[in-house]
Amino acid sequence: MFNNFYYACIVIIFGDNQSYKLYMNFEFTEEQLMIKQAAHDFAETELKPGVIERDEHQKFPAEQIKKLGELGFLGMMVSPQYGGSGLDAVSYVLVMEELSKIDASASVVVSVNNSLVCYGLEKYCNEEQKQKYLVPLAKGEQIGAFCLSEPEAGSDATSQHTTAIDMGDYYLLNGTKNWITNGGNASTYLVIAQTDAAKGHKGINALIVERGMEGFTVGPKENKLGIRGSDTHSLMFSDVKVPKANRIGEDGFGFKFAMKTLEGGRIGIAAQALGIAAGAYELAVKYAKERQTFGKPIAQHQAIQFKLADMATEIEAARLLCLKAAWLKDHGQDYAQAASMAKLFASEVAMKTTVEAVQVHGGYGFVKEYHVERLMRDAKITQIYEGTSEIQKIVISREILK
Ligand SMILES: Cc1cc2nc3c(=O)[nH]c(=O)nc-3n(C[C@H](O)[C@H](O)[C@H](O)COP(=O)(O)OP(=O)(O)OC[C@H]3O[C@@H](n4cnc5c(N)ncnc54)[C@H](O)[C@@H]3O)c2cc1C
Repeated sequence: MFNNFYYACIVIIFGDNQSYKLYMNFEFTEEQLMIKQAAHDFAETELKPGVIERDEHQKFPAEQIKKLGELGFLGMMVSPQYGGSGLDAVSYVLVMEELSKIDASASVVVSVNNSLVCYGLEKYCNEEQKQKYLVPLAKGEQIGAFCLSEPEAGSDATSQHTTAIDMGDYYLLNGTKNWITNGGNASTYLVIAQTDAAKGHKGINALIVERGMEGFTVGPKENKLGIRGSDTHSLMFSDVKVPKANRIGEDGFGFKFAMKTLEGGRIGIAAQALGIAAGAYELAVKYAKERQTFGKPIAQHQAIQFKLADMATEIEAARLLCLKAAWLKDHGQDYAQAASMAKLFASEVAMKTTVEAVQVHGGYGFVKEYHVERLMRDAKITQIYEGTSEIQKIVISREILK
């Protein structure tokens, strides 16, 4: 769909009596198209076989993630200097869409490792931390986890109950993190915790915690509605001694670190939602051409045609929002609002499209072999994690009104 396709968009921003133009040319480069094709091929040959069984048995796609790491998909945007592929955020969107068409449980690992873990480490860590933690993660030799949510703190991330008490050379970490993607398979965990409650969100730190540190235990795997192949756990910290050298940035930088990192993460999840929608749409088009009722393919009934037309239109709009957010990021522009808009819209499109794709399949849509019921279950999480749809609206309205 992208090949030889040219997008052009002029964004005119008016403000403070100034107006300026930002010209966006979304003609993809040869490199971007090659990466997209590679992700497409990987999804078809490596992810599709076994995707139904992995979902059914909640099996983490360990072999597939290892291969994705070897191919450079786990540190896509990290500079080659630190073992990454040095690609742009537009390529990342293209890859996330292709992988998510087939297996959103695998693509969430790619998203978390790239945008919540590697991005934060490369942007905000010192050289020593980068060499020690970023390099193996960017090379895909290890995977990472981002640990902000708690039993009592999801949307309201400022009310952290996990504490990191300053003990001089180290922080004493205590508390519980909830819903942590890659929780059971990660080696490196970026943990957000409150050091000085009196300072509110300015008293929060981000610490790099290693698997195996004394007092750190991983809870049982969550039994989920969707993205069942992904690995979601609670984590418990009981008097874990985390060296001061493992703090990211200055004292009190942790909350800002988490919010800035999530801005980029939302591009990844928006593209995941886009891919889930696009995957369901492609299956619906194929099925509509094959399935006959009343002497003709259901694609010849206008009710079905209109569903496909709505799906195609909304998916294209979601794609443009994802690419715009990525383009802004690649060009050093503020992308917070664009990332939230992309996530809000793409996740709503994913939910709506997958429900309609099941409908197009009739009874066959309700059973596992046809894939669309899984995509419908997987779509739901994109409206919840990395900021619910309601939280995206708060972010967008805050940006509009500031
Ligand atoms: C499968 C899965 C994987 C996850 N992975 C991670 C991870 O890797 N790392 C991590 O840190 N977290 C992760 N999360 C946690 C996820 O980010 C949170 O679940 C999410 O932010 C919502 O928080 P909550 O569940 O506490 O819901 P709550 O914050 O309790 O929200 C409940 C409802 O109230 C709404 N609401 C809350 N506040 C407001 C408001 N001010 N205005 C309007 N509506 C509001 C919400 O939108 C939601 O509908 C994951 C969650 C799941 C399910």
